[in-house]
Amino acid sequence: MTDTHCPYCSLQCGIMLTPRPDGSLDLAGRPDFPVNRGGLCRKGATAAELLDHPERLTTPLVRDARAAPLRPAGWTEALDRVAAAILRTQERHGRDAVGMFGGGGLTNEKAYQLGKFARVALRTRHIDYNGRFCMSSAVAAATRAFGMDRGLPFPFADIALADVVVLVGSNPADTMPPAMRFFDEGRARGARHVVIDPRGTATAELATAHLQPVPNTDLSLANGLLHIAIRENLVDEEYVTTRTSGFDAVRRAVRSYWPDRVERVTGIAVPDLYDLVRTLAAAPTAMILTARGAEQHADGTDTAQAWINLALALGLPGRAPGSGWGTITGQGNGQGGREHGQKADQLPGYRRLADPVDRAHVAAVWGIDPNELPAPGVSAYEMLDRLGTDGGVHTLLVAASNVVVSAPNARHVAQRLAALDFLAVTDLFVSETAQLADVVLPTTQWAEEDGTMTNAEGRVLLRRRAADPPPGVRTDLEILRGSADRLGHGDMFPTDPGAVYAELRQASGGGIADYGGITLERLAAGEELFWPCPDENHPGTPRLFVDRFPTPDGRAAFVPVRPRLAPELPDAEHPYLLVTGRDRGHYQSGTQTRRSPTLQQAVPRPYVALHPELARVLEIVEGDAVRLRTVRGDAVLHARLDTGIRRDTVFVPFHWGGAACVNDLTSDALDPTSRMPAFKACPVAVEKAASAVFAEPTPAEPAIAGI
Ligand code: SF4
Repeated sequence: MTDTHCPYCSLQCGIMLTPRPDGSLDLAGRPDFPVNRGGLCRKGATAAELLDHPERLTTPLVRDARAAPLRPAGWTEALDRVAAAILRTQERHGRDAVGMFGGGGLTNEKAYQLGKFARVALRTRHIDYNGRFCMSSAVAAATRAFGMDRGLPFPFADIALADVVVLVGSNPADTMPPAMRFFDEGRARGARHVVIDPRGTATAELATAHLQPVPNTDLSLANGLLHIAIRENLVDEEYVTTRTSGFDAVRRAVRSYWPDRVERVTGIAVPDLYDLVRTLAAAPTAMILTARGAEQHADGTDTAQAWINLALALGLPGRAPGSGWGTITGQGNGQGGREHGQKADQLPGYRRLADPVDRAHVAAVWGIDPNELPAPGVSAYEMLDRLGTDGGVHTLLVAASNVVVSAPNARHVAQRLAALDFLAVTDLFVSETAQLADVVLPTTQWAEEDGTMTNAEGRVLLRRRAADPPPGVRTDLEILRGSADRLGHGDMFPTDPGAVYAELRQASGGGIADYGGITLERLAAGEELFWPCPDENHPGTPRLFVDRFPTPDGRAAFVPVRPRLAPELPDAEHPYLLVTGRDRGHYQSGTQTRRSPTLQQAVPRPYVALHPELARVLEIVEGDAVRLRTVRGDAVLHARLDTGIRRDTVFVPFHWGGAACVNDLTSDALDPTSRMPAFKACPVAVEKAASAVFAEPTPAEPAIAGI
């Protein structure tokens, strides 16, 4: 039996894998792992279905000409083509014309090695990853306010200790069901849970109260709540005086957020505003948790900051177990994947590429001159937007990311990919992005590899190999080594995950995300270790901010924030608001979960959720084909009537490509601080469509010559 962790979300549930006589693996939740205690959602429970899936890629694919189909090839030919394209592009356009695009599902070792490969083997500034699409605004706000970012600055178990929990734009009952045990424990002992969401989600149904604001008004709501807290003398003045800075500017900024004005903007009734603030302020322990619903906006950083301001004014962060502010990370290694260098401005351990001291530290670990390190690059969407242009990337290497489905304004992204000189994609399957590639490289998956992951709490975990990969498949570390060999840097890229992790510990040591004391031996012995953990005798840090914040003056910073005008507003042609998110049965771009027979049967087709009242006005009934249209594109989906959603809002899960790709519609307006796209709340037209135009519900297989 092998203990490991789920390949999907940031809860990283513990999983036991036991070989069966026929060679397949029996999968069960690990009762000893404190986060899930044996519980798994149906995604985790069915993860083994993909290990021997018939569509699994087991050989590299190459394309002989743009119009030619992909054909099987050997590793030597495929990697030779990648290296030749890199060298050709560097010669024609310079080093920055080669780019890399990573993913938040990669292990810490892979994310680290990807960043090192970009800076050392390619010496390009162009690297970023899909975590930019989900976590960046919360990261930017937390870094600005607290001096550092760790999604949850406390363990999940603290949720059960909170007397009040306010969840803003978060739906863990669908996205990470085993986490609900902590919420259930809290409510069982009388805790009050308030969900703020335009949709009546599964989480909202379980909560004590559900507030349904107009989408994209969370910043005004938080400012309005703080206005009431000040007016009612509910501010924790001693905490504000001793542990924070900048409150006076925020006090002035929220002066005009009168409750009746906030009610008009958000749709939340004045008595509910008062009730929420008084409840939060009176509770001995309380926490505010935000997620993508609050953060994926053109002012997502400021929105997260507004909720942090409220939490600080009430004295929550660092007060006691069960109190604080946190953000719930989405992807499996959404936390670790953003700490070790695959982000455009970042070096391992949350060190900064723009900081000379940080550059010197990491350059010494890598054995290079700091001057050889490139400058910070641009964010994920900015890189995609400029593919094939002067000053942009001409050869792109994508690892574990399906940008044709997951990026905003996805049709535009597909057009930019077509303008590249060369595209290489590593993945398990021929994803929609891989279908456009010149070379596709097959990689191992979770149960076939060793490594470490870091879950949403900052808990470092061992991923363990329980099965051999199919013959012909390589690990990402082996693929990077094969490429580095051809570029003359092979010796710097070990393929053993343990060797890479040892280097990561050194590179992160002394940084904010310090893994220096977290050895593989300590993890294997069962120690529960949360970073920062600077030395091998250190117990790790489950709870941050207990005594001070890691800012120069030790105080958390209030920052005055006001809503920006939304990049697009509803008009006569696009009168409704489109919100996207996750369905319980699928994950991210669906490359994996759409291929799971069990999950595909449970949620077989893309859908749009809309209120029965809106459906009646538009003469739509359950199951009808519905066309959604924004200024960027359209999609056709099955109608699902939902009494829990606002009448002015429609919801679409983002797990499908092709004609049902909702990201063909979403906005590519970027938050000015985090550069995260405004996926949420774009104005949309909704109409009944002819059923003949329904999207193909299963992944369309590409034409591949010879297989
Ligand atoms: Fe996997 Fe997340 Fe489900 Fe747990 S909640 S089984 S980590 S997908």
